Amino acid sequence: MAGEPQDDCLFCKVVAGQIPATVVRETETTVAFRDINPQAPTHVLVVPRAHYRDIATLAAAEPAITADLLHETGEVAAQEKLDSYRVVFNTGSGAGQTVWHAHAHVLGGRGLQWPPG
Ligand code: C5P
Repeated sequence: MAGEPQDDCLFCKVVAGQIPATVVRETETTVAFRDINPQAPTHVLVVPRAHYRDIATLAAAEPAITADLLHETGEVAAQEKLDSYRVVFNTGSGAGQTVWHAHAHVLGGRGLQWPPG
């Protein structure tokens, strides 16, 4: 069923506490934790507790949770005291998505180049 935890999903396991993660914030609908392979001094992932394969699928099915997720990216940035930061949703393998559970990357703590690679 849409949104239900998937046995083979890494981030569903993080949400369930079955895989260790450094959690920095939690809400009723989201969990934020440090990326294990940080690409910047601050690199936090914000995921919905519900399982959707990518941000577009989440946004179509659950606009309120999508809003919560976006709100949390700002809360993470504030908590991490980031003046400037980037929020990234890699969507599809060609864009670098490797984990098929919607997630926002919050990156900051160094200068970030534009355009991205
Ligand atoms: O956008 P993408 O799907 O590539 O992002 C997945 C992210 O999940 C990667 O940045 C990777 O380092 C991170 N990850 C993690 N903890 C895991 C497995 C992957 O933080 N156990």
